[in-house]
Amino acid sequence: MAKTFLIDTSRCTACRGCQIACKEWNELPANDTRQWGSHQNPPDLNAYNYKLVRFNERRDGDTVRWNFFPDQCRHCIDPPCKHEADAYVEGAVIQDPETGAVLFTEKTRQLSEEACEAVREACPYNIPRRHPVTGALVKCTMCHERITRGMLPACVKACPTGAMNFGEREEMLALAEKRLAAVKAEFPNAMLADPDSVSVIYLLTDDPFNYHQNAVAGVTRDLDRQQFLARLTAPLRRSARAAMQG
Ligand code: SF4
Ligand code: SF4
Repeated sequence: MAKTFLIDTSRCTACRGCQIACKEWNELPANDTRQWGSHQNPPDLNAYNYKLVRFNERRDGDTVRWNFFPDQCRHCIDPPCKHEADAYVEGAVIQDPETGAVLFTEKTRQLSEEACEAVREACPYNIPRRHPVTGALVKCTMCHERITRGMLPACVKACPTGAMNFGEREEMLALAEKRLAAVKAEFPNAMLADPDSVSVIYLLTDDPFNYHQNAVAGVTRDLDRQQFLARLTAPLRRSARAAMQG
């Protein structure tokens, strides 16, 4: 059965337990860090951080708001990264039909630099990163080896507030609607981020841009809607071209 996360940002305290649990489970080394004026650390996703709690502070009239966004792969239902990768190396990106997890395999090492960039650009959430040593593309795996043995993803298991939720898709969609209705009483602009197209659904209490420029696909500041749709369908067009060229 397809699995889904609900990340309820209204309950996130930015403790970063999920970020660290992800590093521990995947045995990822520490990053060299520096003070860059934010508690967000490291500054961005990288080959050793598949999950990153983003911090964004802003003024709202007389109130200072601090939004927390535990960023990770959305495990798209129809993943553009897979469409793109298929045009270069079949099997570099696969999707588990049971869980819906989108998985980058060892074959991503066979992708040229140009192909890696194309796969990265195909992602509407700017998630994949290239490993500096192995050359593989890496990202969140949905803790596939855990969930297929009946365990929760490490990040969900570690979250102390109920912000991270995981389960059957129908169950998570129902929980998302229930929490959205409850949160709207205090935050009328609350919304679910791209619930129909991803397996990692965020409940946001604020404008997506007040979390992160890639919080929601298709509304990045740099792309208008038409450009975004062109970007989203580019992998499909490239795949068709590759098929025609034999
Ligand atoms: S979020 Fe990006 S990397 Fe993850 S499945 Fe979607 S397109 Fe692929
Ligand atoms: S563990 Fe939960 S509360 Fe802590 S940063 Fe992650 S999502 Fe937020």
